[in-house]
Amino acid sequence: MNNAPIGILGGTFDPIHNGHLRLAIEALEQCRLGEVHFIPGGTPPHRGAPKASATDRLHMVQLAVHNNPAFLADQRETYRTDACYTVDTLTELRTEFGSQQSLCLLLGSDAFAQLHTWHRWRELFELAHIVVMQRPGQPLGNTLAKADPALLHEYTARLAPSSKVLHESPAGHIVVLNIPALEISATDIRQRCVEGKNIHSLVPDAVAHFIHNNPYTTC
Ligand code: ATP
Repeated sequence: MNNAPIGILGGTFDPIHNGHLRLAIEALEQCRLGEVHFIPGGTPPHRGAPKASATDRLHMVQLAVHNNPAFLADQRETYRTDACYTVDTLTELRTEFGSQQSLCLLLGSDAFAQLHTWHRWRELFELAHIVVMQRPGQPLGNTLAKADPALLHEYTARLAPSSKVLHESPAGHIVVLNIPALEISATDIRQRCVEGKNIHSLVPDAVAHFIHNNPYTTC
């Protein structure tokens, strides 16, 4: 492997918050990633329309990452209005970065437990590694106890003991990381905006400022 692994963090980012940034920092440091791409989704297949426009969600991601040279706001999904699947985004990244580049899809344990419901989910393992971010209170073991048998099978076969594999192969392994709890969600932030409550320390200052000046964004 020539280049350090690339992390990929997809989300609605409605808005991006400090929980997302902490997740990315933990992945960057614990896995020694070279960079993390934040990819705001366009029309997510698994949920309703976001409150903020695609342009505003992307702008807030740009504001949130601009101080960190290892973080990139990646707009490849943002303006798509069709159903936008992770398998297509990873295929595009794979074409762009080449067959030898290590790509790491960063997922929360709750998202990982639903992976078998994703479009062409088995192909994800051919395109990238999966790094499952385990938060206290959401232990992966508990989540997987109720998981789909096919997903459990893939998990057992692909689980790696350390993040070293991310530097040795381009795709195909599962790595589990423990990350600290930051009880922050975009849902809660949107609710706080509706109620006129303060959102400082939940989002980066530049994002709080943007929301303050553009109340239509999330309220
Ligand atoms: P919403 O509340 O609108 O559902 P969200 O805050 O969960 O949004 P998303 O954009 O849906 O944000 O999340 C993108 C990714 O970030 C997901 O993999 C999710 O598990 C992870 N994530 C969200 N909040 C946190 C947090 N506080 N700590 C760590 N990871 C988080």
